[in-house]
Amino acid sequence: MKYLELAKFFEKIEGLSSRNEMTSEMASFLKGCDQKEAQIVAYLMLGRVAPLFVNAEFNYSEKSLINLLTEYTKENVSKKRKEVGDIGDTVLEVWEKYSKNSSNYDISDIYELLWKIVNTKGTGSINQKNSTILECLKKLSPLESKYFVRIICGELRLGLNARSMLDVYSVYLVGDKGLKDILEHAYGVCADIGYLAGIVVGENAQEKLNNVDVRLGTPILSRLVERVGSFNEIFERFEKDIIVQPKFDGLRCQIHKWSKGRQAGDNKTVWSEYLQNENISQGLFGVGEAFNSEVRLFTRNLEDVTEMFPEIVESARNLPMESFVLDSEIVGWDYKKGKFLSYQETMQRRRKYSIGEKSTDIPVKSFVFDLLYLDGGSLITKDTKKRLDSLENKFGSTTGGIELAESKLISSLDELKEYFNKCVNEGLEGIIVKQFEEGYKPGIRNFEWVKIKKSIEKDLVDTVDMVIVGYYYGSGRRSTLGLGAILCGIYNEKEDTIDAICKVGTGIGDDLLKEISIKLKEISLKDSPKNVRYQDSLKPDVWVQPQYVVTVDADEITKNISKGKKDIGGGLSLRFPRLIEFGRDKLVEDITTVEELVKMDNLRKNS
Ligand code: ATP
Repeated sequence: MKYLELAKFFEKIEGLSSRNEMTSEMASFLKGCDQKEAQIVAYLMLGRVAPLFVNAEFNYSEKSLINLLTEYTKENVSKKRKEVGDIGDTVLEVWEKYSKNSSNYDISDIYELLWKIVNTKGTGSINQKNSTILECLKKLSPLESKYFVRIICGELRLGLNARSMLDVYSVYLVGDKGLKDILEHAYGVCADIGYLAGIVVGENAQEKLNNVDVRLGTPILSRLVERVGSFNEIFERFEKDIIVQPKFDGLRCQIHKWSKGRQAGDNKTVWSEYLQNENISQGLFGVGEAFNSEVRLFTRNLEDVTEMFPEIVESARNLPMESFVLDSEIVGWDYKKGKFLSYQETMQRRRKYSIGEKSTDIPVKSFVFDLLYLDGGSLITKDTKKRLDSLENKFGSTTGGIELAESKLISSLDELKEYFNKCVNEGLEGIIVKQFEEGYKPGIRNFEWVKIKKSIEKDLVDTVDMVIVGYYYGSGRRSTLGLGAILCGIYNEKEDTIDAICKVGTGIGDDLLKEISIKLKEISLKDSPKNVRYQDSLKPDVWVQPQYVVTVDADEITKNISKGKKDIGGGLSLRFPRLIEFGRDKLVEDITTVEELVKMDNLRKNS
């Protein structure tokens, strides 16, 4: 298939506002793809060349592209970008006289070129990337260029995410969303939307989807946790005894270990199954040591953080078990005092790493609370109690960087409260209560696992994760820092919109204010983003691309008293909101939903 066809398809999708229309258009487009093309298209739709768990980033900014084009065309590309409001449309205009009618590139040619950009690393890489990009742009038509540059600058945003691609696959296979559960499970186990695309357009798709199983080195989606409004509710919801574990406040981490050359299943990496043995060189799939190494660590966002936590990797290597997948939380640990560090300190370790400092001055430990795979066999369909028993039997004596979390069987309300208080006094965030029966259920949130945080007695029953959609200049001293407050939104699943519900200006120190201000300026927009709804009274001075996720706490959830559009955010807002964390390790698609906020409001009222 020609790349021009894909660019035309992107253009079509971009013009649609209905999610259902997008889904059926995408399903028909896949009909024209073979397995390899389907896999490539699935990654490209999400602006990537590989699944999220492969560190394959373009690391190329809009600014670099603007400089490149300015130098070549001698035009004021930066001014054009400001007028047009988008890098793709800017290139469409600026590059017209330098482009061809059509490149004649196939999808796989463009895919190879994109990989070449990803794999250009180290000193001098920006010049090398520039020359690859320029050579490519000279061969592309304006429409092809528009989407090529949006992909490399991370600005594609077609409005489909991994979950909506599952709907596409279901529509492709049976004409409606009837295969949702099978697809969700398959995606939960392999976290690879491209690999699934390859299966879907191939033979015996449904049977193969049913058989997707855990593979070491490929992350499983993290199981999520529901909230309850009171201790009593726990015993109303769980009929039998319960398992209670401490709630660690850190970074979710899935630890995979396998012996070199002995991966589960065959030796192939799942995601390159349909792409191998083609023109794309094997070297491209090497992606560092990713698939030779025997230990891999993944966050809940599927980010590969193996390099970031060498002490956890070493501890995993030292464990006598040949192969396993552990679910755990990484928390900063003060070895001298034998105490947890705060969430902020733990995250400091992560932040330092992301700016290139290989910090070991904030030591961490990983507290293991589940076992998903052991010595050749997946455990995800086994009951929680059974998995935890195996975990304790095998890993009970573990110490050092990896430690077993306590699992306590509790049968009375008093015991539960006592255990909760003990955890909170030890500096933990609360407790997680788990039902004895049922399997692990990747990516699913239901009442088989619930959390009670120490905030339950005051404020909201839980913090709210929101995405920043705009900002205000502010007044007085703050205006000199370029930012006074941010406008934050939650996700409205019914409408498929982000509903902006509150302005947050408290809880942001000067340094953070400056950092946020710089980051938001880079993603500012001329108008409000297509899928954002807001009350006129909340209109910000500057709109931004919804990209940065923040955690917000507040005194309470309130009814929005302004007379505007009532259904925005379920008609709810937050009273005295304050920023708890900027740059949460969460995808925009995982922020708090309107439905969840309504539930949180009811929990408080009923407790
Ligand atoms: P949510 O998961 O509800 O979207 P969140 O990201 O703010 O919200 P938390 O409210 O902190 O997460 O609760 C769930 C998280 O708690 C899990 O993703 C995991 O990282 C962490 N956690 C800590 N201890 C445990 C445990 N014993 N069992 C399961 N998860 C735990």
